[in-house]
Amino acid sequence: MTYKNEQNTNILYKGNKINPNRVSDPEVMPLYLSTAHNVADLDDLQNTYDRKGYAYTRSHNANRDGIAELMTYLEQSENSVITNTGMSAISTTLLALLTSGDHVVADKTLYGESIDFLKTLSKYGILVDFVDITNLDEVASVINANTRILYTETVSNPMMTVANIKAIADLAHSHQSYLIVDNTFMTPVLFHALTDGADVVINSLTKFANGHGDVTLGSISAKAEIIEKIYNLQVLLGTTGDPFDSWLATRGIRTLDLRVKKQSSNALSLATFLENHQLISKVYYAGLKSHPQHDLAEAQFSNQYGGMLSFELKGDRQTINKFLQELNLTKYAMTLGGIRTTISHPVSSSHYDTPEEEKAKIGITDQLLRVSVGIEDEADLIHDFEYALSQIELEEGE
Ligand code: PLP
Repeated sequence: MTYKNEQNTNILYKGNKINPNRVSDPEVMPLYLSTAHNVADLDDLQNTYDRKGYAYTRSHNANRDGIAELMTYLEQSENSVITNTGMSAISTTLLALLTSGDHVVADKTLYGESIDFLKTLSKYGILVDFVDITNLDEVASVINANTRILYTETVSNPMMTVANIKAIADLAHSHQSYLIVDNTFMTPVLFHALTDGADVVINSLTKFANGHGDVTLGSISAKAEIIEKIYNLQVLLGTTGDPFDSWLATRGIRTLDLRVKKQSSNALSLATFLENHQLISKVYYAGLKSHPQHDLAEAQFSNQYGGMLSFELKGDRQTINKFLQELNLTKYAMTLGGIRTTISHPVSSSHYDTPEEEKAKIGITDQLLRVSVGIEDEADLIHDFEYALSQIELEEGE
């Protein structure tokens, strides 16, 4: 066919298809950014629906399916869906599995915005009790006939408390409830929540899973029938993960095992160093014998405790500022789980909006700093902290 304005028309169509004679098997899955896939006619469209083929990206996308398959494998689940953030993995799961009148029991030391979202559920007639998840008697005491979900993080942000997933799963199941576990801090390299009895496992892939600080993404893994319920709502909410982020995170996850093991050993060394330093009043890290759930963590995680730790620095705001300024390798960043060590101050970031009395109940003080340990050389990392602490000592001595 010829067109009246050949060039203007062809500029829209040329160069849009791969030459089928030149394509072989790519070493890495290509990036499928196309919002839609063309179909030849109505029969072809029906055929695409029947085989769950790709028609529109909000519903199905090859890169998103790729990472979902990888997460299903890693979490040892039946199926997974990928969401555009960790928060949307949490919100989509809860909205899909709860109805008005239901009751939820959640750990009081969860990530601040998870707590904030759980609180918004009261608008839909869903009530939430926040408890100390490490105290099973307290958990049992608030479960009632309407309880549908028990919700916890494996290791909590930022207090590093460790939940006994097997015991909490038993409790949930004896009351016909689901246990949902946010496994972001431990990742499937260090812990399989589903194997220990959880019904749904959530990961913010933004963090350790992607590991390079350039993506926001989340995953939900569970039995196929639970994932189907969540997927049906996810498509309506529009919380499906972005193809490029899915592609990047798939690449990131390839090195998750290597990274998390190095981060865990660096974190144990740093925690041990900090615990013995006179300017540090407390260290929260499950790998330390002083941690209240160390024995549970040892049994549950087989000797690797992840890359996250928190500690309290003696002193005031000025001391904390001096310490942050004197760190060289370690940067203040509002994220975690990357290859470089980052530090944050929960009172000023993840728990910025948390009322004072709630922070006091959780144990979050103005002196608390949270570290996400990277894959740097261990000696360089310790030196970074040692140097920054020595500068405070110098100033105090003046
Ligand atoms: N879960 C935990 C434990 C987190 O720390 C975070 C964020 O820091 C989230 C969920 C939310 O993830 P995202 O920022 O990808 O929405």
